[in-house]
Amino acid sequence: MTQMTEPSPVTEIQAARATPALPDAQTVTEVQHYTDRLFRFRCTRPQSLRFRSGEFVMIGLMGDNGKPLLRAYSIASPSWDDELEFYSIKVPDGPLTSKLQHIAAGDQIILRPKPVGTLVHDALLPGKRIWFFATGTGFAPFASLLRDPETYEKFDEVVITHTCREVAELTYGAELIESIRTDELLQELIGADHLAKLKYYPTTTREQSPKMGRITTLIETGELFEDLGVPPLDPDTDRAMICGSLGFNIDVKALLEQAGLREGANSEPREFVVEKAFVGDGI
Ligand SMILES: Cc1cc2nc3c(=O)[nH]c(=O)nc-3n(C[C@H](O)[C@H](O)[C@H](O)COP(=O)(O)OP(=O)(O)OC[C@H]3O[C@@H](n4cnc5c(N)ncnc54)[C@H](O)[C@@H]3O)c2cc1C
Repeated sequence: MTQMTEPSPVTEIQAARATPALPDAQTVTEVQHYTDRLFRFRCTRPQSLRFRSGEFVMIGLMGDNGKPLLRAYSIASPSWDDELEFYSIKVPDGPLTSKLQHIAAGDQIILRPKPVGTLVHDALLPGKRIWFFATGTGFAPFASLLRDPETYEKFDEVVITHTCREVAELTYGAELIESIRTDELLQELIGADHLAKLKYYPTTTREQSPKMGRITTLIETGELFEDLGVPPLDPDTDRAMICGSLGFNIDVKALLEQAGLREGANSEPREFVVEKAFVGDGI
């Protein structure tokens, strides 16, 4: 008969190899679902992670093959926040999001702490009015920038447009704007006197809502400017950031260039910057 013994160091090493610790692991602290296609979650923030509001990182889960399955995600929380927030799509057969949509508080995700991106204040020249143009989850980097005091310190007016197919898809953005307007902590951080600068312009393209239409059409017809009571785009005063599907980005970019604004970058700040919210087709 074999005698039971204390596990040898070799056995411990083998056990450790069988259940490897997640690299760059962060713990999920909160999950909120909006529709069958959209959810938001928060997780712990690595102490060493410094980022500029508007940047993105690679996050993911361990794949079935034992290798990290990572995707680009805009950080939706501002740079002063102790935790990180992400706003995510759920693609039914998407390699990552078919799994990520099932995460719960206490679960771990992988986060590579190397933030990058063009939707940052450093890539824009000073101006009077900043426009954030978003579709779908393209709202995420602006959820960060809209909660950053720097946005309001740098501009007299801050306009966020968010276009989705259906009304429920606007909920994350609408609740975020509401929290900026009513949450005492956010007001204290941003400065209550700065809140009057914020203008929120949600539109839908499919489901009936108070404001319907693609933002490109509303720019072309001038309805956007009439509704907000602001003059049309002007390179002397207006700055912009665009984040949506590839088609949306191309169309908005063309309209901004038509108005005389030029695309900038971290290395060469100008009047507007663009970033893909994802690769593929959108609204
Ligand atoms: C710079 C950058 C920042 C990004 N930030 C975010 C973010 O903050 N939130 C987020 O949800 N995704 C974001 N994405 C997309 C993200 O990287 C993944 O594509 C997404 O999480 C789906 O992963 P997946 O493996 O399930 O499917 P994938 O194989 O990556 O995608 C499958 C298909 O789903 C569609 N799709 C992917 N992402 C989206 C989306 N966000 N909205 C609508 N359709 C989509 C595309 O048509 C794509 O071909 C970003 C992408 C880039 C390039």
